[in-house]
Amino acid sequence: MSLIVQKFGGSSVADADGIKRVARRIVDTQKAGNDVVVVVSAMGDTTDELLDLAEEATNAVPGPSRELDMLLTAGERISMAVLAMTVNSLGAKAQSFTGSQAGMITDGVHGSARLVEVNPDRIQKSVDEDHIAIVAGFQGMNRQTGDITTLGRGGSDTTAVALAAAMDADVCEIYSDVDGVFTADPRIVPSARKLDTVTSEEMLELAANGAKILHLRSVEYARRFGLKLHVRSSFSQLDGTIVLPDNPEDFKFENLKEIPLEQPLISGVAHDRSQAKVTVVGVPDVPGSAAKVFGLLNEADVNLDMIVQNVPTDRPNVTDITFTLDQAQGGKAVEVLTNHKAELGFAEVQYNDSIGKLSLVGAGMKANPGISFKFFDALREAGVNIEMISTSEIRISVITDIEKLDEAVQAVHTAFDLDAEGEATVYGGTGR
Ligand code: ASP
Ligand code: MG
Repeated sequence: MSLIVQKFGGSSVADADGIKRVARRIVDTQKAGNDVVVVVSAMGDTTDELLDLAEEATNAVPGPSRELDMLLTAGERISMAVLAMTVNSLGAKAQSFTGSQAGMITDGVHGSARLVEVNPDRIQKSVDEDHIAIVAGFQGMNRQTGDITTLGRGGSDTTAVALAAAMDADVCEIYSDVDGVFTADPRIVPSARKLDTVTSEEMLELAANGAKILHLRSVEYARRFGLKLHVRSSFSQLDGTIVLPDNPEDFKFENLKEIPLEQPLISGVAHDRSQAKVTVVGVPDVPGSAAKVFGLLNEADVNLDMIVQNVPTDRPNVTDITFTLDQAQGGKAVEVLTNHKAELGFAEVQYNDSIGKLSLVGAGMKANPGISFKFFDALREAGVNIEMISTSEIRISVITDIEKLDEAVQAVHTAFDLDAEGEATVYGGTGR
């Protein structure tokens, strides 16, 4: 008998009809002879609505905190209980569990807690008693304080993968409102193509660079444990995308066909609208300047993405340092730097959050030097100005004006022959 962990995202359980559809699917999976553990997100845009409510009620951004986590975890409690009732109404047996009941133990960082331990004893017992165990995603408990925590937006994927790893599941299925991992976001590029497989290395780059189909930490986690991820739609019966573990030996594949003979050159184009760009102008060009700037930002817990330093030829002995970061941290970064202006000796700080990041990802890039020319040529042809560039072994990223981002994604997608014949189906969700 196999153990299957199935995770359903918010758009799959947006209303009673959606919950019924998901419940039937779960029951069918059990009837086919599997043990089933389910992880569920909050219904539809509930998490965003709860955030809006908190903001409105407090006249401010309430910030990640104990109370905010308590509030947000309520969303998943609603969906887990209603889904369990619905499964029961179909004649199967289900039990719902909160994150802490499911043994999801985290550190104490509210808003982005990390798992420190997973004890799925109660879930195992429930399954052993022929129940379908339904677990609230995205949440855990700090053992020291007993406080409820959340794993960060999109964290239900990580709950599912962590449970699957701890229970030695055969596969972790992530259900959403599209048929799998696409060569670009089908909401922006309707001709995007579904990938049958993607390597976990590529999936990490895609998720880290804005692809929202999987929570980055869930990909890291699955990769570490050699767990097979299957990303698919809860609205169709189609096969989705298999995220291949790095070592095929780790991979409990039923079907050799799942492993492609050769890796495609490019797996896709990811984009990210959530970043901002900070430029520290006129930093003294002496040893230790960068260490001071990044030391202060590090002390303030600011996470950086791209970093560029260039030497302006028109001003002697000074340099500009530019970096990108999450918009949510932009205010803090500017404040920290401004507070230390005299000490750092720079001229001014510039802030721009009207930027977008575009990333081309493909494992085949390693062996193909022609890729970057084609990439930049596609951007030139589309009239896209490039503000920053960074690369890894299997990725090229650029920062562009936010207004040009969608066009840039389409141009690069087409230049690399990623367009499919038909249009990708987006079954649900508001894309919020
Ligand atoms: N409900 C949470 C969110 O919207 C967690 C999740 O859906 O994975 O971020
Ligand atoms: Mg999600």
